[in-house]
Amino acid sequence: MGIFLAVCVPLVSLGVAHPVSRGFQVSTLDALSAGVFEGAISFRELRRHGDFGLGTFAGLDGELIGLDNQFYQVKRDGAVLPVSDQSQTPFAVVTQFKPTQKIILPGTFTYTELQTALDQKLPSLNYPYALAIEGQFPQLQFRSVPGQTPPYPTLAAVVKQQTLFNFEQVSATLVGFRLPQNMQGINAAGYHFHGLTKDKKSGGHLLAGQFRNPVVQVQLMQDWQIQFPDTAAFAQSPAPIP
Ligand SMILES: [Zn+2]
Repeated sequence: MGIFLAVCVPLVSLGVAHPVSRGFQVSTLDALSAGVFEGAISFRELRRHGDFGLGTFAGLDGELIGLDNQFYQVKRDGAVLPVSDQSQTPFAVVTQFKPTQKIILPGTFTYTELQTALDQKLPSLNYPYALAIEGQFPQLQFRSVPGQTPPYPTLAAVVKQQTLFNFEQVSATLVGFRLPQNMQGINAAGYHFHGLTKDKKSGGHLLAGQFRNPVVQVQLMQDWQIQFPDTAAFAQSPAPIP
């Protein structure tokens, strides 16, 4: 009986519902930063790993949001398009979203303040989390980026051409991740959200916002899978300089 009880003790005592959930990413942020914008896998294949997430498109043609069984593309002009299964992504992060914790934050927060408040509520900052925030927001600022043609510039050069979309009193859903510091370079450490307005007519990569009494659905992940692109562009991309 003693042995039986011993093997039932969970490895991590965070009150996390099992089974263990997995994040899946295509390529690395370092490769995307270096301009590896070639499509690596199709959305048909990406969907097998999850329909909740974010990323971009071949040629860095806008911002990707995966929400409610659908992938959406926010173009540089702000138009939101459905994504075909045949389209490809050079960089994306998805999961099967099954939140295990709800964090309620009374008060009004900037995006920076929200991150600090969430950090204090999460059970540990050493795991990846998927996060969703749905509701009415006093203010949100999204951006998108223009599609590129080869030879591709760096990500930083394209972001200089970003278009900003500002909203007030807007109903929207934010889909995002918080990744631990030791994943910087593989992905973006810290918080990263993409959003879609409730009417599904606008969205993008979240730059700023105001949050009133936000309710954050949280899923801790103990498993993380990376698919490195099987492309010459990835194979030959310059290694980042430390
Ligand atoms: Zn983004």
